[in-house]
Amino acid sequence: CGIVGYIGQNDTKEILLDGLQKLEYRGYDSAGIAMLNENGVNLFKVKGRIATLRERVDHSIHATMGIGHTRWATHGVPSEENAHPHQSASGRFTLVHNGVIENYQAIKDAYLSDVDFASETDTEIVVQLIEKLFAELGDTPAAFRKAMGLLKGSYAIGMIDNKDKETFYVAKNKSPLLVGLGDGFNVVASDAMATLKVTDQYLEIHDQEIVLVHRDQVEIQDLSGTVLEREPYTAQIDA
Ligand code: GLU
Repeated sequence: CGIVGYIGQNDTKEILLDGLQKLEYRGYDSAGIAMLNENGVNLFKVKGRIATLRERVDHSIHATMGIGHTRWATHGVPSEENAHPHQSASGRFTLVHNGVIENYQAIKDAYLSDVDFASETDTEIVVQLIEKLFAELGDTPAAFRKAMGLLKGSYAIGMIDNKDKETFYVAKNKSPLLVGLGDGFNVVASDAMATLKVTDQYLEIHDQEIVLVHRDQVEIQDLSGTVLEREPYTAQIDA
């Protein structure tokens, strides 16, 4: 399973599809991508191979921000409905996740008893929870941090808020995720191998941190919102 994200100046499709292909070695049963442009979120999901996803994607869509995911099902069968990205009830938030949310049932009971779920995944509770918390807090970074603080288990997460084309949200706990730094763009990947073609400069993200990834800037925060400083490292090309 794996995650790739891009926010920049160029079209995101090829970077996402190529990145997902490079992550195929990690194993998966389904895949999907979401791209945000002036028409909103364009979502494509398939059960099966990246090659099938590539055929399914509308290649006439142009977008400079997007996320891709390969899924190794843990909660819910491999299917198009259970494939990521998942969206909140209003469609505002779109999210991918690798890992397992151990307390998903408790969160569902405590916060989401009135929500109609579109999938059988543990992941969908995360994006629905963020929408609930956003309704309360009125601020996406605050809702995102609070949601991460409520989760138990392992996660690498990438999220798009369709009202904000300038920010890509990332979080991790006990699952791999890196931010890659470019000139006028930034990327996110489970493994630097997925995006080495576009940059060799990476920022490590530690457990229980979130990152606000913009086109020309990256901000790491802890779950209380304190901004953290970190130096990038150069990833070695040893393929
Ligand atoms: N637990 C999630 C699911 O079953 C994510 C699985 C993964 O790591 O790909 O959808």
